[in-house]
Amino acid sequence: MSKLSRRNFMKTGLAIGASSFIFKASPLLPAQPEKKIIAIASSNGLKATERAMELLRQGADPLDAVIAGVNLVEEDPEDTSVGYGGLPNEEGEVELDASVMHGPTHNAGAVAALRGIKTPSKVAKLVMERCDHALLVGEGALKFAKAHGFKEENLLTERAREIWLRWKETLSERDNWFPPKSEKLPAEVKSFVDAYGTINCLALDSQGNLAGVTTTSGLAFKLPGRVGDSPIIGAGLYVDNDIGAAGSTGRGEANLLNCGSFQVVNFMAQGYSPEEACLRTLQKIAEKTKYQPHLLDKDGLPRFGLNFYALNKKGEFGAASMWSGAYYAVHDGRENKLREAAYLFKRKK
Ligand code: ASP
Repeated sequence: MSKLSRRNFMKTGLAIGASSFIFKASPLLPAQPEKKIIAIASSNGLKATERAMELLRQGADPLDAVIAGVNLVEEDPEDTSVGYGGLPNEEGEVELDASVMHGPTHNAGAVAALRGIKTPSKVAKLVMERCDHALLVGEGALKFAKAHGFKEENLLTERAREIWLRWKETLSERDNWFPPKSEKLPAEVKSFVDAYGTINCLALDSQGNLAGVTTTSGLAFKLPGRVGDSPIIGAGLYVDNDIGAAGSTGRGEANLLNCGSFQVVNFMAQGYSPEEACLRTLQKIAEKTKYQPHLLDKDGLPRFGLNFYALNKKGEFGAASMWSGAYYAVHDGRENKLREAAYLFKRKK
């Protein structure tokens, strides 16, 4: 497997430089490090980091801030990878996974394969706060949400239904479903086969407290009941308030086998920068993929996408992707923008 590229290490160095402490000069008082407030997210999370930052500035708890951020994406019918409008399982049912973790109390909650509720991240927080369990799934998660006043709704938008129907109709020529005669398979549908997509959002507040959330509709056209990495604490999300926070998007199965977010936080505990911690975790996962030949391309490299996002206690942040070309959203207190993620392997043109 390839070594971490020089370019990545150089980028890491720059990232640390850019995010090191800023000291306020005062003629009377000794210089004090400015308290950093940071929100980062996957590339579909610019409006989430914007909202999270607004709330952090008002003194909100970092978990409330990130949940309010991702709620905007969960409720957005246009994002086909999260919440309402998410692509369904192979039977046309939208099933959602989400987890939340709160640094100051080292507590977490999650739901998996939850149907009918637009904002699974809110239900995950209630699991954390209002019951003695950490993870509820399926029917039990829905009953719990309804007990707390959530309304059961149809999460399948017309767009998601049409994409699913074309997928189903073009799956095989030996079944009983036919696509419309005049229509070729729209490019859009092709791009959703094997499609993953999720939002992860992490925040650091002015008190140095960390929190995170990961929420998703999971793998498009999955088997009913399939649970990805997003609701699994240690895989799709992990927060250690003394060290840092990490989360993931991409092929959940590969992450589940390697407890990726926990690995990222562990690497940060060993002194690696957030970006290096993400890269080292991806490298471990890439190495373990050799045991699963069906997931390797003809060059013996992982033929799937996987991304990690990380934020440490000092306010340094970074992200890395298995393959080049990925971005992530960062609000660093001054500006909110997409930044290029580091990567393990360069995509061939
Ligand atoms: N990681 C998610 C899952 O496997 C999907 C994704 O991030 O695209 O369910």
